Amino acid sequence: MGVLEGKKGLILGIANNKSIAWGVTKSCHREGAELGFNYLGDALEKRVRPLAESVNATLVEPLDVSDDAQLDAFFAAVEAKWGQLDFMVHSIAYADKNALKQPFSQTSRQAFQQALDISAYSFVACAQRAARIMSPGGAMLTMTYLGAVRSVPNYNVMGVAKAALEASTRYLAYDLGEHGIRVNALSAGPIRTLAASGIGDFRTLMTKAARGSFLKRNVTQDEVGNAACYLVSDWASGVTGEVHYVDTGFNVGVGDPGES
Ligand code: NAP
Repeated sequence: MGVLEGKKGLILGIANNKSIAWGVTKSCHREGAELGFNYLGDALEKRVRPLAESVNATLVEPLDVSDDAQLDAFFAAVEAKWGQLDFMVHSIAYADKNALKQPFSQTSRQAFQQALDISAYSFVACAQRAARIMSPGGAMLTMTYLGAVRSVPNYNVMGVAKAALEASTRYLAYDLGEHGIRVNALSAGPIRTLAASGIGDFRTLMTKAARGSFLKRNVTQDEVGNAACYLVSDWASGVTGEVHYVDTGFNVGVGDPGES
């Protein structure tokens, strides 16, 4: 019997089969969860729906996390369909491509606000609505990156958004802990995805991450998916407020040793 057997979970942020959210989906489906998904606009529905159907999803609804009315409608649909929610995975981020290309010191107010809104506040917005339909034992998870705690070249405003996301994780974990709900973040090493394509010179980042990691390679989508599955399952029942690194050990070391 799978560790998520009998549980209903939302996975937010599938763009395509390269998405980290898809890695999470594969693991959670294998472990027996009943799954629900969002999509951002009609164009994305065409890509998300077939993936969702391939794992027998019972809920696929539109949701732009920057829109409160859509958030309300989405979680109302979840409540109407499922009644109760056991876990939620938030795998969503956005920053303006031009803002990411500029030196961080040149970030505009508008680009800063948008990156923080979609990449950090949206987790709070989803969590407050999800918590209303979660019982003790419920779990929430978001995806973060090392750029939250280190200055990573080209990560720029997204690093600041991830710092806010990680702090939000701790405050949500504090608030929701008394209701028996756990909240964690998973810090993944670099993986080639649509969102990653917005980060300048991502190829070099991946090469350096592999060289500087203890396992001497990049992490895979499936490895992140499996760790996410553990964090939302009862196996992690004593874990909350954490940032859990799944990066083949890169964050613990001293970084890229160079080519010698
Ligand atoms: P991805 O496949 O592009 O997923 C990002 C998702 O966010 C997409 O589905 C995107 O939808 C969605 N999104 C953006 N704005 C949204 C909005 N307003 N409302 C709803 N959804 C919205 O890339 P990914 O790499 O898997 O990213 C997933 C998460 O992992 C992100 O938080 C990312 O920062 C994090 N992460 C990624 C890496 C990496 O190296 N790839 C490493 C560590 C952490 P659209 O495509 O339609 O815009």
